[in-house]
Amino acid sequence: MINKKTVKHTEFNNFPLKNGQLYIANMAVEQAIAIIGQTPAYLYDRQLIQQRVASLRNMLPPGILLHYAMKANPMPAVVQHLAALVDGLDVASQGEMHTAINTGMLHSEISFAGPGKNNTELKAAIAAGIVINVESENELYRIEKIGKDLGITPNIAIRVNPDFELKASGMKMSGGPKQFGIDAEKLPDILTNIHNLTVNFEGFHIFSGSQNLKSEALIDAHNKTFALAHELVQYLKVDFRFINIGGGFGIPYFPGDEALDLQPVAENLQHLLDEYKSFSNKQIIIELGRYLVGEAGIYVSKIIDKKISRGLTYLVTDGGLHHHLSNSGNFGQVIRKNYPVRISTQKPITETELVSIVGPLCTPLDTLAAKMELPKAEIGDLVVILQSGAYGRTASPENFLGHPHVKELLL
Ligand SMILES: *Cc1c(COP(=O)(O)O)cnc(C)c1O
Repeated sequence: MINKKTVKHTEFNNFPLKNGQLYIANMAVEQAIAIIGQTPAYLYDRQLIQQRVASLRNMLPPGILLHYAMKANPMPAVVQHLAALVDGLDVASQGEMHTAINTGMLHSEISFAGPGKNNTELKAAIAAGIVINVESENELYRIEKIGKDLGITPNIAIRVNPDFELKASGMKMSGGPKQFGIDAEKLPDILTNIHNLTVNFEGFHIFSGSQNLKSEALIDAHNKTFALAHELVQYLKVDFRFINIGGGFGIPYFPGDEALDLQPVAENLQHLLDEYKSFSNKQIIIELGRYLVGEAGIYVSKIIDKKISRGLTYLVTDGGLHHHLSNSGNFGQVIRKNYPVRISTQKPITETELVSIVGPLCTPLDTLAAKMELPKAEIGDLVVILQSGAYGRTASPENFLGHPHVKELLL
């Protein structure tokens, strides 16, 4: 007997199709586009974001705190919405810091990570009293000096570059030589002496990767993260407030991608909390970007032209990689694969056809979809790219070729 493993294809049904039109927040996409006044546009659904946070909280052990890593989607309205739902915000630049502060989030619950923070940025963070995740020894000493000049004691956490990495991760950010964090093996010396510096030591930031769909890999990383934190804590002569264990929860994008099964990850976290009793008075923080917003957003463009070139039908849209680099496959992907695509139109379509969908830029990289079987669309119909709420506009070269900028709406 052949034992075939059945692959559970993800349905991507956050946005229902009714009579040929795609709906977001109980509204046809065409209506949302009328509100925004143009294509291309990003549309985000606030209720989907809220539901995602609620189901996550429902699943995770009660004590775990949730931060939003803003770089996934820094649209001020999105960040404002999330600020009311999460326990903290993680920023990666002074610009994001300003957006975070404008939400009213307590400054002590905002953290600032990223290599190459300049003195102006560090000064701003110290003046605001937000937590700086220190990425190098040099940065640590610069922070202390700037704090002394300002007469304000900086709040810091040490970002650790662990000696392990998150397996099966879309983007590896630790293990081996890295620009992120201080190598774990250098930390005994630094931590032993940190009480001699004029800084408030708040905790550890141990982030090991991004876009992971495998619960076993996340469990493995969490186990190693708790063990590493436990080891590092032994060197401290001061108390501390939190351990940020990173995030890395992924979302499905491609056919055959299976959504992350969080249940075992949550159960393992509960085991770890039970096992490491010495952390019971510490905040354990998970920071997530993509997982909170990625599935709640769509990118909408309009078909401007339709042509057949040597047998292949092209739909040419007004949107492209200048707004949505990740969809084009040029943001860290090794092989380009098609994101889930929908056609939205006022006249229901029964036929399908094989098409490639391309944008208006003069480069073959500007591909929204390659050879997909889709409902037979015409000029004027809308092309909708799903799973576009994270690393969309913010991760795209908007000025490339000088086309109009994309607009965003949170519905
Ligand atoms: C990018 C980043 C995140 C967010 O990653 P996602 O994959 O979007 O969840 C979290 N923490 C740090 C330090 C990051 O650099």
